[in-house]
Amino acid sequence: MAQTDHYRETLRFATTGFVGRAELEAAPILSRRDLDGAGDAIRSELATYAFSSYSSGTTESPVIIDRSAEEQNYLTEFFNLLNRDDVAIPRLALLAASWHHGRRLELPGNICVLAVSLAARTGYDIAHRLLSRQFRTGGPTHIAVIAGATNRIEQLTRYLQLRESDGFPDIDELHVSGQYLSERSKTYLEEYWRAPVHDTYSLTELFGSAFRCIECGLYHFHPFIFPEAVDLVSGQRISKGRGRLLLTGLYPFTQMTPIIRYSPGDVVEVSPIVCSIGRPGFQFLGRVARALILQSGKGPNWILTGADVIEAVGTINEVAIFRDPAPIPEECQGVGAPKFGVLPSIPETLAIELTFDPKVEPERTNRIGQLIRDRLAANAPQAAQPSLRALKLRLVPPGTLDAISVSRP
Ligand SMILES: [Zn+2]
Repeated sequence: MAQTDHYRETLRFATTGFVGRAELEAAPILSRRDLDGAGDAIRSELATYAFSSYSSGTTESPVIIDRSAEEQNYLTEFFNLLNRDDVAIPRLALLAASWHHGRRLELPGNICVLAVSLAARTGYDIAHRLLSRQFRTGGPTHIAVIAGATNRIEQLTRYLQLRESDGFPDIDELHVSGQYLSERSKTYLEEYWRAPVHDTYSLTELFGSAFRCIECGLYHFHPFIFPEAVDLVSGQRISKGRGRLLLTGLYPFTQMTPIIRYSPGDVVEVSPIVCSIGRPGFQFLGRVARALILQSGKGPNWILTGADVIEAVGTINEVAIFRDPAPIPEECQGVGAPKFGVLPSIPETLAIELTFDPKVEPERTNRIGQLIRDRLAANAPQAAQPSLRALKLRLVPPGTLDAISVSRP
């Protein structure tokens, strides 16, 4: 694993060549900037280049991840062996594909993927026509699975809702990823499609993902990823509570670009092992860049996350919605994430954009402010209440949040 100049330097303490769970804590945190900046120094000298994938770069500059032929071959053999007893039922899946990620690792499976781009107007029309038609496959005749980025699938649903009020009865399941899936969005999708929505956490930088457990309701990572949560301030590993997510990819699933204690920039809540999966449970609570550490209350520090804010303001119509910069159909705007951000220069302050000017309607603004505070308090544990009272809310007029804060979800 450490056959790279980067890890020969940062893992010097590991004299045996193997690093255990406890010893791993001595390894430094690898940020996206470190990963990007390391270049060839982090790529394994033992692997043969095959292709590259790219992280999306929505919040920072994108990272180019090299993959090897050995990795692709190993994964193909592994999944063929794992699925050898499966009865082959071919299925048709509509995938909201993104060309921003380059080529991804390909896994064997009995699924026929129909890729469309929902970052452009035409993709919505194509998706509508594909979902409406029959296919002569010798097996299933309709698309049964829909997969893609959470916001794109919500936008597609809005587009179809205006055209096909009866929906598509052949859909068996939806798979979404890439953004926090609010309770409101989950309900919206499940009611229209009349099918379960599964959201997974995955990232380009590392093979594997986390999926929601039907037993405990929390997320577990695949066993070939070692996840940790560390305190946002001290960087110390925690086994319970909210902190920064760190991920380590295990050999031989990750080979050419070894990832050790990588911080994708996400806040999680980690729980000790509670179910028969036998691994810790995680909840994904949004980006570290949009989390607030509330310290000035009388209680312990409380980390207010993007997920908390989305759940609190998601049904308030006066809160502005993030406008998608992609050239999507106009009617699909307005189903995205609420517009809020933290102010880098003013601590403990949450800025939320409204659909009207607060100066013109001060009473209405106060009412909304109180409603947001009440909802945040209702969703938080007792211990967090004093810290939440220290939170400063700034409600801003339409079109002004981008100038003062990072508002992109
Ligand atoms: Zn579980």
